[in-house]
Amino acid sequence: MRLVVVGGVAAGLSAAARARRIDRSLEIVVLEKGEDVSYAACGLPYLVEGRVRAAEQLVVYTAGHFRRERNIDVRTSTEVVAIEHARRRVVLRGGDSLPFDRLVVATGARPDTTGIAGAGLPHVFTLHTLRDGVRLRDFLREKRPRRAVVAGAGYIGLEAVEALRARGLDVTLMFPGHDLLGRHDPELARVLIAHIERFRVDVRAEQPLRSAAALDTDLVVLATGLKPNVELAAEAGANLGPTGAIQVSDRMETSLGSVYAAGDCAETTHLVTGRAVYLPLGTTANKMGRVAGATAAGARERFPGVVGTSVVRVCGLGVAVTGLSKEQARQEGFEPVAARIESGDRARYFRGRPTTVELVADRRTGRLLGGLVLGEDGAAGRINVVATALHHRLCVDDFEQLDLAYAPPFAPVWDPLLIAAQQLQKAM
Ligand code: FAD
Repeated sequence: MRLVVVGGVAAGLSAAARARRIDRSLEIVVLEKGEDVSYAACGLPYLVEGRVRAAEQLVVYTAGHFRRERNIDVRTSTEVVAIEHARRRVVLRGGDSLPFDRLVVATGARPDTTGIAGAGLPHVFTLHTLRDGVRLRDFLREKRPRRAVVAGAGYIGLEAVEALRARGLDVTLMFPGHDLLGRHDPELARVLIAHIERFRVDVRAEQPLRSAAALDTDLVVLATGLKPNVELAAEAGANLGPTGAIQVSDRMETSLGSVYAAGDCAETTHLVTGRAVYLPLGTTANKMGRVAGATAAGARERFPGVVGTSVVRVCGLGVAVTGLSKEQARQEGFEPVAARIESGDRARYFRGRPTTVELVADRRTGRLLGGLVLGEDGAAGRINVVATALHHRLCVDDFEQLDLAYAPPFAPVWDPLLIAAQQLQKAM
């Protein structure tokens, strides 16, 4: 029995490792078109910044490690150009083919630079692969650019802004509309823009980039969104979902027998709305990959979906979100009520720093729908509490009673989450 995995980063190698753990006799082959496998793309902004000194530090395991320690045959520089499902084989660039009994598609996503002229110029970069990060870091070292433009205000764009400012460049951030982090939250956008401007970044909202060539700058980073790599699976006949990514069940089954998909190439379910959603993140890719590997190896495991939790540091400020913003909740047909509070993140006499919490709930049912935490410290920990509440469909009155930890070095006696819940209760 042979399992073939296409893609050798988060989802692909999680799938391979899980399948190996479940079935020691399975033959497992991972095919990766690039030269690197199992690296932490999430660390790329810190490689650019210089905080991570060597690209190798971002490599979790090498292909050799997988071969030696796990009996997984990882082949780099090996691109799959077609899946012949009826013949149960993949075709490789160069013409060879490889039969499979089970197949995991973990082909990830690619930066979407559609419609941007000059994307291939030597001073224009995306930040997606390890090679991208190394290329940008080397350009900074060798050319010593002074001015940079970052296009796109998703989390990768904002992390790029921070990294380039930390290296002393004059940075302009430009993006279409007024929305940051795709959250449809005008108040969050206002606060973040003001914060970024305090770091002497020139922020230009409502400025979609059409031509990188036309910019008068030394360096451009395109962080203009992601496109799932679905072509391989779609051409083989796998169904795409409403988001345009590969449709999978909670066991990562595609519409093709014995073919599974996971990670940034696939969609998942939003547990607050119950709808399909495309939220490409490393944390999700690892979990989906694990379930794809388990299913391919014959075990019964599930990945029910996500509540949309993420955290990003923006010029020193932790920005953590989960679930829906008020506007997103309204668009989903809820009757949202929100409460936003500012409070200290620990006891005042323990150098408590300001933290902002917003909670959103549905007026009709009292169910919590989403949350936001901004703060220098503790934003991730607090948003994880809200994420847990969303997973368990808690109502505001339950949430308000949570027994959260308190001691002066860690939190104030009334945690900001509980203060926000009280305010929300009043508002409702
Ligand atoms: P990928 O990592 O894209 O890997 C897919 C692999 O498939 C690629 O190596 C590709 O070469 C290979 N492939 C594609 N087609 C073929 C083919 N036909 N044949 C062979 N191989 C093929 N997530 C978080 O949760 N938190 C973070 O803080 C965070 N920060 C990030 C920062 C940056 C700068 C970036 C770029 C990403 C970040 N992410 C973060 C997202 C996270 O890195 C991705 O969600 C994750 O890497 C997705 O894993 P994947 O295996 O699905 O896809």
